[in-house]
Amino acid sequence: MPENSSENSIPPTTHDKKKTALVTGANKGIGYEITAGLARLGFRVGLGARDTNRREEAVAKLRAEGLDVFGVPLDVTDDASVAAAAAQLEAEGGLDVLVNNAGITGGVPQEPTRVSPELVLAVVDTNVVGAIRVTNAMLPMLRRATSPRVVNVSSTVGSLTLQTAQADAVGPISAAYSPSKSFLNAVTIQYAKELAGTGILVNAGCPGYVATDLNGFQGHRTPEQGAAIFLELATLPDDGPTGTFRDDEGIQPW
Ligand code: NAP
Repeated sequence: MPENSSENSIPPTTHDKKKTALVTGANKGIGYEITAGLARLGFRVGLGARDTNRREEAVAKLRAEGLDVFGVPLDVTDDASVAAAAAQLEAEGGLDVLVNNAGITGGVPQEPTRVSPELVLAVVDTNVVGAIRVTNAMLPMLRRATSPRVVNVSSTVGSLTLQTAQADAVGPISAAYSPSKSFLNAVTIQYAKELAGTGILVNAGCPGYVATDLNGFQGHRTPEQGAAIFLELATLPDDGPTGTFRDDEGIQPW
């Protein structure tokens, strides 16, 4: 039973021909814009968010624009919450596209010599295990979809190649956030390998440096610009790539 049925008032029968997407961590920032963008492309979009008020406000704002968005209570670190979200989507008629966007930096300090193990575990639990938890819970529905896509919201700070080739250019020294994105990239490759031939395309993307709460709005791109690569990865053609890492410029090195 959805936590707030008023968010889910459109009967599924109205949407039989529409594809459904789920975006995690979608109440603000890049996830909110991915949700809006997918809805503008004609998807029915589940706006996954853990906080009831923030979720309802975001859903109301997008629905006021005429977009087909419904709220999905979802904390990606909580097995029961993820299972309930999967049950809600099953009841809504299934899932075609999953965007694993929810993420945290973990705050400071993050230098490897000073970071606390608890901080590292919390960041990995949200940014990596969260994506695995949600993907696996949604997988039965994705396997039934005609053009299923899994999109992982990563970062070029997770690129080991870029971290070593141009350390200054890809963010501060970090033992939690950046490695969590390297881990997410590695997991993306493993999903793509295991799911090869199933039609489920699994790719990771980087939004660039985007002005959001995550970085105190220091980024130079808008959330809408940051969302663009994920809209592309969510709507890849059936013969599109899987197991890639890309941004607006194209393929990025792992
Ligand atoms: P943001 O505005 O802080 O948004 C993060 C979202 O994740 C929020 O909706 C937050 O919800 C949600 N979230 C955090 N923990 C969660 C959990 N346990 N369960 C469910 N939702 C959770 O930051 P953003 O910049 O848009 O970040 C979105 C993604 O882009 C992240 O994966 C981030 O690593 C990635 N990214 C961002 C940048 C950038 O420059 N901004 C660059 C590269 C990659 P609450 O409101 O409840 O906290």
